[in-house]
Amino acid sequence: MNIRPVERIITAMETSDGAGVRLRRSLGQTQFARHDPFLLLDEFNSDDPDDYIAGFPPHPHRGFETVTYMLDGLMVHEDHLGNRGELGPGAVQWMTAAHGIIHSEMPQQKDGLLRGFQLWINLPGSLKMEPASYRDIKPQEIPQVPLSCGGTAKIIAGHFGLKDKQTVGAVAGNATKVDYFDLKLVSGEVFECAVVADRNAFFYVYDGQVRSGEPGQVTSVDRWQAALLGDGDRWRVEAGDQGAGVLFLSAIPTGEPVVQHGPFVMNTREEIEQAVREYSAGTLTANGG
Ligand code: FE
Repeated sequence: MNIRPVERIITAMETSDGAGVRLRRSLGQTQFARHDPFLLLDEFNSDDPDDYIAGFPPHPHRGFETVTYMLDGLMVHEDHLGNRGELGPGAVQWMTAAHGIIHSEMPQQKDGLLRGFQLWINLPGSLKMEPASYRDIKPQEIPQVPLSCGGTAKIIAGHFGLKDKQTVGAVAGNATKVDYFDLKLVSGEVFECAVVADRNAFFYVYDGQVRSGEPGQVTSVDRWQAALLGDGDRWRVEAGDQGAGVLFLSAIPTGEPVVQHGPFVMNTREEIEQAVREYSAGTLTANGG
């Protein structure tokens, strides 16, 4: 049993996206800040409407999946397929853009706290041109598991726990077999779980502070930092004095080249040029549903 060490810390930087939504970007802040197949992780967290009111008006995606997870506030998603989904506290939207989707994500509040995350997960080249799909996941569809020291784990995707006592997440069996857990750890709590050896894994601290690694060789990770993990088959984390909120992600890497141009993520420059051409010609979503 090898505990995965923290190999690299990426501190989120403040940026803005959409029509001017302020957010903190950890993965995806540069092309060197990815962890195959994870392309990007944004946290939006503000009670100032000027930071979020403009939202994300209609825009395209091709070649990957986006997962939005809300903690506070209300957003509405609409797309060219006619889907409309309300995302309230605890809800998740799992969108497989693949061949192409055009959608908007707009806040449905004039004040108050808007808080949540958007994760981009790459698709292998063989699936980038498949039809788009979309799923709204209500908070009550996400299994919640009490941890032995008082914390809780929400199993958004994948498989959690031991073989004889496994909890299957709301989403299971996407292309890259993502495990996505939201852990709420109480002060001083130690949490350990198995991580399949061929997966790439990282975690992101959104509340409090943690230490991760073998006992005696731990690395401190603060709020608004992503920690990329090295090889091993277990992950171990200790919460700091204030407890911690941590997103944990693992998935099978694609092992393929990544060429990104804004909201298009493909394997080659030619495929990006094709996406740009099809978007201007209005055919990006021609296979979309
Ligand atoms: Fe989007």
